[in-house]
Amino acid sequence: MKVSQQLALISLVTGGLWLMAAQPSQAATATTTPIAPWRYAKTTANYRDNSTSAYYQDVWRQATKNWQKKGFKWNAVKGSSKTVLTSYADSSAQGVVYIGMKQTKYTASGRIISNKVMVNRASFQKFKYNKAERVKVAEHELGHALGLAHNNPGSVSVMNPANRVNSIKTVDVKGLKLRYKTPYKAVTKDTVYVTNSALKVSPDLPIQGVFGHDDCDDTILLTVSS
Ligand SMILES: [Zn+2]
Repeated sequence: MKVSQQLALISLVTGGLWLMAAQPSQAATATTTPIAPWRYAKTTANYRDNSTSAYYQDVWRQATKNWQKKGFKWNAVKGSSKTVLTSYADSSAQGVVYIGMKQTKYTASGRIISNKVMVNRASFQKFKYNKAERVKVAEHELGHALGLAHNNPGSVSVMNPANRVNSIKTVDVKGLKLRYKTPYKAVTKDTVYVTNSALKVSPDLPIQGVFGHDDCDDTILLTVSS
């Protein structure tokens, strides 16, 4: 089954829960963007860019540089890396509703084992995202990869769950700082989690304060004991 199909199924299952959780549609921006359960060892990580076009290499270069300006240093490497950035083109009915995806494997302690960060070229084209907007989608997915969760629907945050227009804001930098001053958990059993997150397209520019139908589903897909 393709990743997009898996995610579509998961969306069906979790969509109701998500809507309930997100319903208080007061779109106030959380003053600190919430954090995810995973992190890198430090506020720096290597990555390998698997993009083949100069255009997408530049999208990732800009997005990683923008994070670097805000306190997280990404280092491009040619060899293997636990973090891989790439793009794909899925124009199928199920696939084209997603603009970006990220898969994180991490341990119960919160240590990242691998991150695969992707953007969907087909959706970018269909919904006419300009290059600056594509960079913002890439920044959003990189934000998940380094350990941020979503800010509120309608928030002024790169981690807005339907982000198309926001760059990395002060609230996101506060989330980054919180994430990296919160240590790994002490655990007795080392379990591996895999979490997929998929950012749905925002066909129209999101109107601040209105909870739209676009969201990004974060779902723990499976738990593997190791
Ligand atoms: Zn997201």
